[in-house]
Formats: sequence, structure tokens, C-alpha cells
Amino acid sequence: MSVTAALLRELHRCHRQLADLRERHERGPKQIRAHETNVKRLEDELAKVKAEALDARKAVDGKQLTLRAKEDKIANLNGRLSGCSTNREYQALLEQIAADKVAMSVLEDEILDALGKVDEFKARVAQAEQHLAKGKEEAEKVRTAVEQQRSLIEADIARVDAELKQLEVDLPADFRQNYDRVVRAKGDDALAEVEGDCCGGCYQQMTPNMLSQLKLAVAVACKSCGRLLYFRE
Ligand SMILES: [Zn+2]
Repeated sequence: MSVTAALLRELHRCHRQLADLRERHERGPKQIRAHETNVKRLEDELAKVKAEALDARKAVDGKQLTLRAKEDKIANLNGRLSGCSTNREYQALLEQIAADKVAMSVLEDEILDALGKVDEFKARVAQAEQHLAKGKEEAEKVRTAVEQQRSLIEADIARVDAELKQLEVDLPADFRQNYDRVVRAKGDDALAEVEGDCCGGCYQQMTPNMLSQLKLAVAVACKSCGRLLYFRE
């Protein structure tokens, strides 16, 4: 079974190009999916911060309601002052009013703090919205690029595949069977260049007999890895 090194070299080039093209063809959708996952994560983050912002707002509203209730209560107590029949009752009301005013003052401080938190969350929501917009923009860019590349890669695959089939037509039948088997098992690793006197795939040393056979264009497979060997140009 006689096969020239030039033919094997060309076959190997086609197999390697096809493997590379197919890898690129598969990588595109993976890149798109990775960006989609990222967008989903940023959406979740935004939703979480928005919920926290809403909680902060509700906390302020609740405290403001309590504050107004306290104001009403103090107004009511003040109104009752003139109707007091005893000094003791009057003093008790004054003490109650003073205590409520202290509570109001504490509540006002708490409201100021809570308003600060509301502002913080507003800033965080704006930031999360920015991140999401950027993530979406990047995802769209990648999708467009991958879609543009896809048809080019598919055309290249078809071209190289046709080239490979054309080369394979010329293979002697006895070699072809062995070649098909190795290609099925190893893909683009089915062939290897000889490096020095070693298989360029696994670096196992070749025997003198293998080298002399190969020089006579007799097909030789590496005894260690099974790759079909050929001399470099
Ligand atoms: Zn080998």
C-alpha cells in the first residue's frame, strides 16, 4: 500500500483545519449562552436591589406614619391640658407630652437614617441598571459577531470537507480501510509528522525498518499511538 508523504500531509492539513473550524463553529453558541447567563444574573441582581430599595422606602413610610400618630397624640394631650381638674392630673399630662416628644425626636433621627439608606439603594439600583444595560449590549455584540461568522465558517467547513473527500478518493483501497478506522478513532490526530526518528504525535522512537518502509512510501503506523506517519516536506 503505497501512499506519498505529500498526500498524507495534505490529508492531515484538511483534518486539522476541519477540527479547528468545527471547534470554532461550536464555540459560537457557547459564547452566546455564556453571555445570556450573564444577562440573567444581572437581571436577578437588579431585581434583588430593587426589592431592597422598596423595603427601605417602606421602612421610612412606616416610621413617618408612626411619627404623625405621635404628633396627633401630643396635640390631643395638649388639648386636654386646659380641662384638667387637678394639678396632679396636669403634671401627669405634661410628663406624658414630654415623653412623647422625646420618642418623636428619636423617631425623627431614625427617619433621617432611613432616608439615607433610601438614597443609597437608589444609587445601587441605578448602578445595577447600568451593569445590566452593558451586559445586554455585550451579549448583542457577541450574538451579531457569532451569527456573521457562522455562515463563513460553514462555507469553510464545506470547502475543506470537499477537498478532503477529493484527496481520499485517490487513496489505495488497502490503505483506505486502515485510514478510515484510525480517522474514526482519532479524528485530526489520525496522522502525525515524523520528527527526527520519532512519531510527532507521541514521540515514540521509530524502528529503522519503519523509517526505511516510510521512505519507500509504504504506509506506516506508530506502534505506540497508531497515528499514520509521514515525513515533513
Ligand atoms: Zn505515536
